Amino acid sequence: MTHNVLVLPGDGIGPEIIAEAVKVLEACKQKFGLDLTIDSALLGGAAIDATGSPLPEDTMAKAKASDAILLGAVGGPKWDTLDMAIRPEKGLLGIRSGLALFGNLRPAILYPQLAAASTLKPEVVSGLDILIVRELTGGIYFGQPRGVRTLDTGERQGYNTYVYSESEIRRIGKVAFEAARARNGKLCSVDKANVLEVTVLWREIMESMAKDYPDVELSHMYVDNAAMQLVRAPKQFDVLVTGNMFGDILSDAAAMLTGSIGMLPSASLDANGKGMYEPCHGSAPDIAGENKANPLATILSAAMMLRYSLGEGAVADAIEEAVSSVLDQGLRTLDIASDGCQIVGTESMGEAVVSALISG
Ligand code: NAD
Repeated sequence: MTHNVLVLPGDGIGPEIIAEAVKVLEACKQKFGLDLTIDSALLGGAAIDATGSPLPEDTMAKAKASDAILLGAVGGPKWDTLDMAIRPEKGLLGIRSGLALFGNLRPAILYPQLAAASTLKPEVVSGLDILIVRELTGGIYFGQPRGVRTLDTGERQGYNTYVYSESEIRRIGKVAFEAARARNGKLCSVDKANVLEVTVLWREIMESMAKDYPDVELSHMYVDNAAMQLVRAPKQFDVLVTGNMFGDILSDAAAMLTGSIGMLPSASLDANGKGMYEPCHGSAPDIAGENKANPLATILSAAMMLRYSLGEGAVADAIEEAVSSVLDQGLRTLDIASDGCQIVGTESMGEAVVSALISG
């Protein structure tokens, strides 16, 4: 069966890192006979410049017709003064919600070769392999009403609404329980049930779902404690599940455990396993066009795409092994550099992964 993949390079370093991921996918076609077509479309600032919209209709139509999507990153100072409604980030939120990509999987794996690149002590992070499951299309980022209003006193007041319906909690719970079942059977649900009613319901639903997963050990933790535990003893976790805003913050903290945000891939899935895959980082305008960006998070996102949406787990394994192999060779982009390693640029890193894949 032919897999139809859509790539959305986006802005900043997006086109540079996507180019390397595409080289790796092309190499997989050659080495494993992977039957894959790759189309591309505009999103974010690049789409605004070309069409006036951060999410053109053509892009949405191609995204709907594809089997999976690989995204670079969007945004940058050039578009920061535009109205909120037509900012690059609006295109990203639009495609996530338009495709109902509610399940965000963010693995944080520390490659042993990078233990020295983490800001935490090697013994705290070595061997780290955790998965954060973040709800992506609900919670306070989408809740209505929202805005800034003027009170009778004349004072302005900003407000947002934190809402989760039972069905939204159940569907992200299912993703998390099943991910935990496929890993080490430990799931920690993160909430703020001591203060927020919406997360009292969250905890109640997670607890009720646990009966259907007797092989998964469910625990609960308040988000403030979870933030502390992630930097104190992150290896106590296997899978964490949480809402949109808590997941946004905790997954960036988890990124630093692995040495660099340039190493972290992610998947955003719908109810049928179709997904959009992207590095956890942004468009890094400070290094865009300088051949300095680490392409490994994007290459690892392509591996996740093959595993979760395209049923090509063995090819995904081969990509991950090739990444590990280039790290063994001592090759490093600047963000993961340490003493005694060889600094390489974006293109050389991508080419090294291709060579390791072909010869592996
Ligand atoms: P960022 O992740 O782009 O950059 C933060 C820091 O990490 C920078 O110093 C950058 O150079 C570095 N960095 C990021 N990715 C790297 C890589 N692959 N290799 C080496 N270094 C890397 O975050 P930011 O600076 O807060 O945001 C920049 C722009 O990206 C903004 O416009 C923001 O809105 C956008 N953004 C987009 C996404 C997305 O597309 N999913 C996510 C976050 C931020």
